[in-house]
Amino acid sequence: MNYKCDKCGSEKLFVEEQGNRRGLYCGECGKWQKWITKQELQVCKFKGIKIIKSN
Ligand SMILES: [Zn+2]
Repeated sequence: MNYKCDKCGSEKLFVEEQGNRRGLYCGECGKWQKWITKQELQVCKFKGIKIIKSN
């Protein structure tokens, strides 16, 4: 799993939950990176990546 923004290179990424999907976004420039799996979500939790719920 890549933890760097593919646009600006920032490592400040966060996850936004959108229904059943979870998007990985850059916290610096806001660029969407990828949809992440449940397994990757566990990795994000472990790494302390911020997870935002969106309705
Ligand atoms: Zn970025």
